[in-house]
Amino acid sequence: ESSETVSESDDMLLYRGFKKMEHTFIAIKPDGVQRGLEFKLVGIKVVVPSKDFVQKHYHDLKERPFFNGSCDFLSSGPVIAMVWEGEGVIRYGRKLIGATDPQKSEPGTIRGDLAVVVGRNIIHGSDGPVTAKDEINLWFKPQKLVSYTNNAEKWIYG
Ligand code: ADP
Repeated sequence: ESSETVSESDDMLLYRGFKKMEHTFIAIKPDGVQRGLEFKLVGIKVVVPSKDFVQKHYHDLKERPFFNGSCDFLSSGPVIAMVWEGEGVIRYGRKLIGATDPQKSEPGTIRGDLAVVVGRNIIHGSDGPVTAKDEINLWFKPQKLVSYTNNAEKWIYG
C-alpha cells in the first residue's frame, strides 16, 4: 500500500513526474485582491504557446528580421498570460514594462531593472487599444475572463 498523500486523479492537475518535485500553492485571498492593486486582474493562465500561435501574436512584425527568432523564443517555454483591467491600464502597463530595448528602459521599469538585451526582454504588454483587443482575443476565450466588482473601485474612480 502506498503511503503517498497525493494520489493521481483526473481532477488534480498532475503531470508525469509531478510527485518527484516540491510544489506549493499560492493564492491571493479576496482581501488581497480587493486591497492590493490599482488595476484588476481578470484573466491569468500558464501556457506553452505553439510557434503557429505566436506567429499570430507577432503578425505585425512578420516583415522584421527578428520575427522568426522572436517567435521561436516566445514559443520555447511556459508563458504566464494575463488580462488586466482599468482606466489607462494599457499605457500604465507599457510604462511599468519600459522601452522595448532594456538598454533604453528607465531604471524602475521591469525591463530596465531586470533585462539586458532586446531579444530577452522578459515581458510583453499591448501597445494600444487595438492590439490589446486582438491579443486578448487571441490568448483568452471570453468565458475564461472573470467579471467582478472591486470594492475599492468607488475610491479609485470616484
Ligand atoms: P514591444 O514588445 O516593446 O511592443 P515590438 O512590438 O517592437 O516591441 O517587438 C516585439 C518583440 O520583438 C520585442 O519585445 C522583442 O522581444 C523583439 N524585438 C524587437 N526588436 C528587436 C530587435 N531589434 N532585435 C531582436 N528582437 C527584437
